[in-house]
Amino acid sequence: MIKVIAVNAGSSSIKYKLFEMPEEKVIASGIVERIGHEDAIFKFKGGKEEKKEILPILDHGAGVKLILEALESSGVVSTLKEIAVVGHRVVQGGKYFAKSAYFTKETEDRIEELVPLDPLHAPAHLLGFHAFNDALPEAKAIAVFDTAFHQSMEEEDYLFPIPDEWSEKYDCRRYGAHGTSHQYLSIKGIHDFLNNQKESKIITCHIGSGASLCAIKNGKCVATSMGLTPLGGVMMGTRSGDIDPSVLDYISTCTGKDVHELYEILNRKSGLYGVSGGLSNDTRDIEEAMLKGDKKATRAANLFARRIADYIGQYYVRLGGADLLVFSAGIGENSPIFRKMIIDRVKEALGIELDEEKNESLNRKEGVISTPNSKIMVAIIPTDEELMIARDSYKAWEGTL
Ligand code: AMP
Repeated sequence: MIKVIAVNAGSSSIKYKLFEMPEEKVIASGIVERIGHEDAIFKFKGGKEEKKEILPILDHGAGVKLILEALESSGVVSTLKEIAVVGHRVVQGGKYFAKSAYFTKETEDRIEELVPLDPLHAPAHLLGFHAFNDALPEAKAIAVFDTAFHQSMEEEDYLFPIPDEWSEKYDCRRYGAHGTSHQYLSIKGIHDFLNNQKESKIITCHIGSGASLCAIKNGKCVATSMGLTPLGGVMMGTRSGDIDPSVLDYISTCTGKDVHELYEILNRKSGLYGVSGGLSNDTRDIEEAMLKGDKKATRAANLFARRIADYIGQYYVRLGGADLLVFSAGIGENSPIFRKMIIDRVKEALGIELDEEKNESLNRKEGVISTPNSKIMVAIIPTDEELMIARDSYKAWEGTL
């Protein structure tokens, strides 16, 4: 038995979960938030301890120190040497990584090279890696990429219809994201709902504040909705998803804003937030307003459901059918209203029958929400990206990565 820690370092946060492997048992977890501030937040749960502290945490190194001190003082580990592997989530692996990799100098250089593709996350991942590496120099480190699962896409699924110089010289193409989650949902779906059958067609909907869909054939990704960056695909909490690119030129002419400003607006002020007239990016608020008859909230919800339904239809065709449709992440796991709104828009064409009672009652829990008559089984599977990171960390320790 070994201990591995799954780490998700953002620009001002570090999420972490310590596992005992291969038992897959979570023995500690928490988050450091507002790194760089005097009133940063440190949360820890492990052993008999559960705490939340507000204190200055000025950089990632200080955050990592607190996490490791808490692991020792709570007795979760008797020495930090017990932590054999640190598994780092990395959002963008570009064309280089089709699976997880040891965090070597070469891996670091590649991630550095990919900063222009992911300026928000990539530098933070490197900060997280260095902070843990300094604190735990004897532990192995690996990088687990959100894009890796999507590297099995074929050219016609990942290329954009743009000048080939853009694709070839600048590697401008679809990479997708949430790959670790989609892969987990596919493995779990095949195991728990499809009797481990070798041939399977699954559509996974990871719908949280970021949202993406994936078409998975025999456990491999054939298409996914996010694009060059997580801005592409379906409508999200604050992101537009796919739009006609001429919107950029037109709105730039109308407002005088440049492409970078508009890109920010498409990322941060669009989606549910934008369509609802700035009401909220959170489906809980949208649902509440919709139930009170708010027109903009209703319009935002309808648009949201329509975009996802359209992708389900597209992937049904891409796969030549589907055995299983999976809902996951914040909205997919928790919102019967949104699940129903989406299913309502595909049920006629795809012969799906929702079991309304199960849809209402099965929140946050794994289970089937379609009737036995439904032509496609529909299931909720709570996602677990950290567990996937822990599994690859264990493989790295075994030397079978
Ligand atoms: P995630 O990014 O996967 O953590 O998902 C977060 C999002 O899930 C929130 O912004 C909400 O839009 C949505 N969400 C979480 N809980 C609920 C709930 N009980 N009902 C509806 N939507 C929810």
